[in-house]
Amino acid sequence: MTGQAGEAFDTAELQRLDSAHYLHPFTDHGALRETGARVMVRGEGVYLWDSEGRRVIDGMSGLWCVNAGYGRSAIADAVHRQLLALPFYNSFFNTTNVPAVRLAAKLAGLAPPGFQHAFFTSSGSEANDTAVRMAWRYWQLMGQPQRQAIISRRNAYHGSTIAGASLGGMDAMHAQGALPLPGFHHIGQPSYAEHGRGMSEAEFGLAAARWLEDKILELGPERVAAFIGEPVQGAGGVVIPPATYWPEIQRICDRYGILLVADEVICGFGRLGAWFGCETMGMRPDLIAFAKGVTSGYVPLGGVLAGERVAAALIDKGGDFNHGFTYSGHPAACAAALANLRIMQDERLVERVAKETGPHLKARFGALAAHPLVGHAESIGMAAGLDLVRRKGATLHDGEPFARALAVGMLCRAHMFDNGVIMRAVGDRMIVAPPLSMNCAQIDEMIDRIRYCLDLTLADVGRRGWMA
Ligand SMILES: *Cc1c(COP(=O)(O)O)cnc(C)c1O
Repeated sequence: MTGQAGEAFDTAELQRLDSAHYLHPFTDHGALRETGARVMVRGEGVYLWDSEGRRVIDGMSGLWCVNAGYGRSAIADAVHRQLLALPFYNSFFNTTNVPAVRLAAKLAGLAPPGFQHAFFTSSGSEANDTAVRMAWRYWQLMGQPQRQAIISRRNAYHGSTIAGASLGGMDAMHAQGALPLPGFHHIGQPSYAEHGRGMSEAEFGLAAARWLEDKILELGPERVAAFIGEPVQGAGGVVIPPATYWPEIQRICDRYGILLVADEVICGFGRLGAWFGCETMGMRPDLIAFAKGVTSGYVPLGGVLAGERVAAALIDKGGDFNHGFTYSGHPAACAAALANLRIMQDERLVERVAKETGPHLKARFGALAAHPLVGHAESIGMAAGLDLVRRKGATLHDGEPFARALAVGMLCRAHMFDNGVIMRAVGDRMIVAPPLSMNCAQIDEMIDRIRYCLDLTLADVGRRGWMA
């Protein structure tokens, strides 16, 4: 089959080399060897093509990152120009570079009030490592070095470095090593579906936030450095907290003087219909971790925005912050970000998510709840999730799920993939987070395909005798 420049691909040979040599992230290699990896070769707008020439509509923006869509020559051109002018120089020894300066200033203009400083990394995991090290350094500078405990949530995703995995609340990750590191603590996630039985959503939001207060009191407030959370949990399955949750978390952090870190790696740069998710949630974080959407994934880049409180300590109290990466402020990555942010502004992508595409997705995706296989469907901005159930219930809490071992979500995902739409399975919760550039007609196309594949999945599980 052929790619962009008419290049032909030998899929079988690529698959053979892939299983012989390439270790993939989060992959069962034994299982992958049986099926062979699907080889993606080209992207344009919201569509991808594989090496067999099959087209799919990308419901997951690559991996929550290709927010501006594929094939953006303005980003490629900016990177090309920068690579020729200055492919690399470090920012360590009292030096800087033009794209890094411009991007830091640009982000200060886009961020919520009080965020005037950016630290750059190459990934979201490194961004969260940086946020932890900044929080520790902050408390040291403030004369409270015993404040080292970090609190996060179960089923949170904060990356895959050792600190990222410790911050995250993914049991499967913790189980494969000596994780979480000591000093990293977890409270329950604000999932109304999981924990909210017998309460209104508003009541549950307050109750879930108070788990933080309980944990702070258990550890001793004078020992707690920071609380970290995604405004909306992404990899955990698009877990949308009740509206009462974040304002109560904010009140608790304020009460005990604890730093609040917003992990905006997914929610930042427009996903929820605002430049940063915290703005829509009643959060006033001290640190914002970002990555993914900042460059639309064209070149790896992440970072931390430091609010006034932390920045003032780091800058005014003096001394080295002994932290950084060779590629902090990489010129080509920062050039990609600047070009990407220009596209987002020129095309008013954030505003469109808030006023046009987000509401359209909400209506169309929400209507999937009527499907016999779907227990519940919800969305926020351009992120959405639905639960596959064995039997529908009258409320969120009384449907009947499938046995976990049946892996119905994976079955459903395979039908999607084979029929031209990419949706991700988190257990039996199916999620989408399409490019922010996806227009309403393309949303309709995506939803039609999803509905068709839900029908196929329903027939499939019916044949296997799994429906109630
Ligand atoms: C993807 C993700 C990360 C990790 O980013 P990497 O670039 O994969 O290291 C951290 N936090 C959240 C919320 C993410 O979705």
